[in-house]
Amino acid sequence: MKKMRKVAIYGKGGIGKSTTTQNTVAGLATMGKKVMVVGCDPKADSTRLLLGGLAQKSVLDTLREEGEDVELDDIRKPGYGDTWCVESGGPEPGVGCAGRGIITSINMLENLGAYEESEALDYAFYDVLGDVVCGGFAMPIRDGKAEEIYIVVSGEMMAMYAANNICKGIMKYAQSGGVRLGGLICNSRNVDNEKEMIEELAKKIGTQMIYFVPRDNDVQRAEINRKTVIEWNPEVPQADAYRGLAKAIDDNEMFVIPKPLEIEELEQLLLDFGLMEVA
Ligand code: ADP
Ligand code: MG
Repeated sequence: MKKMRKVAIYGKGGIGKSTTTQNTVAGLATMGKKVMVVGCDPKADSTRLLLGGLAQKSVLDTLREEGEDVELDDIRKPGYGDTWCVESGGPEPGVGCAGRGIITSINMLENLGAYEESEALDYAFYDVLGDVVCGGFAMPIRDGKAEEIYIVVSGEMMAMYAANNICKGIMKYAQSGGVRLGGLICNSRNVDNEKEMIEELAKKIGTQMIYFVPRDNDVQRAEINRKTVIEWNPEVPQADAYRGLAKAIDDNEMFVIPKPLEIEELEQLLLDFGLMEVA
């Protein structure tokens, strides 16, 4: 009997969580893995590349329009590579708690049997909004809803700052529950010494840089076509990068309780690497 892995992707807004998640999931799908992606962002754009557009009605919209009488196939849609795609959705901007969508959706998916063995899922991926680990946004990492976390980061200061904050949140829940950090995914912004700096950040936090994803315009080219890079053109180098990340996650055995840095340490790291000559 195989065990489903429950993965949450965190990171600063705009860092590339949704892009990286979907492209990596496409990689896992081509390895023959059965994956469900749950978007936990009110923007509901976590599954666009897998679905070939924003065709998805969110769980919250479905509930609003159809009441409680909802079936599994009303809230999940089949996407590229035999994936299942779900968007939690959220309230209108500025109204209500955006975290509610996540809670409602995960409970609903559970009640409707989306995680049952008959579904034969290898992975559930939660693409979680922003860098807020409080309240609703921490939902996937509470109560074992998600068990392993990857943080998308770059060498930009605010991205590293957010990653460190997320580690503080993970640490809190890891001590009482089973959630663990699986690594940092460096989604490059072409910062000087970026790879070395994120490797060092990871080491200091007690984890690993599980993969370095280059910045590449083929991501945009695929995106314009509403596709993951692997679906759009499996031959390009960036497709290799996402297959590599998918394999690294599938093979990963390093799961830790992170040790977040003091702000002074983080700033020193930025100084050390920022002032270093480019290799
Ligand atoms: P998030 O979900 O973290 O808010 P997105 O996944 O929406 O961020 O990413 C924002 C934009 O960054 C995307 O529209 C995508 O075009 C771009 N992007 C992400 N990763 C890369 C990359 N490795 N190379 C080039 N562009 C990227
Ligand atoms: Mg996103």
